[in-house]
Amino acid sequence: MYKVLLIGDQAVGKTCFVHRFVNNTFQENYKATLGVDFALKTLKLEDGNSLKLQIWDIAGQEGFTSMTRVYFKGASACVLMFDITDPKTFQNCTLWKQDLDAKVFLADQNSIPCLLLANKSDLKNERQISDQYIDRFAKDNDFVGWKLCSVKNNEGLQEGMRLLISHMLQRCNAISMTAEDTVLSLESDVEKPKKSCC
Ligand code: GDP
Ligand code: MG
Repeated sequence: MYKVLLIGDQAVGKTCFVHRFVNNTFQENYKATLGVDFALKTLKLEDGNSLKLQIWDIAGQEGFTSMTRVYFKGASACVLMFDITDPKTFQNCTLWKQDLDAKVFLADQNSIPCLLLANKSDLKNERQISDQYIDRFAKDNDFVGWKLCSVKNNEGLQEGMRLLISHMLQRCNAISMTAEDTVLSLESDVEKPKKSCC
């Protein structure tokens, strides 16, 4: 089980993202998240193994300043989301990322891999932030990368999550070589084929 954090300002689309990623559904209006919601997603890997992600979706109105270490504790990866039609949500990404890097570390003391998601790409005419600007920001602030996405139209999410998970597995596996007790074995999640009896 890997814990993945989902952070970013209120109304950027975090809760919609969880529903899209986990159940492939989209509704215009989810109730504002209170406190923290959890969702579980099992993924099949190309090598036949599977892994479970536990996604923590926070209430954005709490803001980066009040996020406690408890929320971040034990996380292996993070998605930081903003809304491309709302520059304030992009500006706040600096603070979200700083807060993340100050509060959670992998076992080797490095920061956890973080993907930047630029959501609401379907609202093309209302877009406020250019690709070049986001690209520079992602490089300067140590993100594993960034993706333009539309949770509404189901675009860009899978590519983004694939990128994040590959970084997460690389980093966790590298750590496991030096400290075996710091990661869970992926194989324990694999369902063994049932033997038929004759
Ligand atoms: P959260 O506060 O970050 O959890 O945001 P929500 O998931 O509750 O979404 C806030 C609003 O943004 C809702 O009205 C959603 O319907 C809308 N929304 C989320 N994703 C998209 C998207 O990709 N495109 C558009 N146009 N609206 C979206
Ligand atoms: Mg929410």
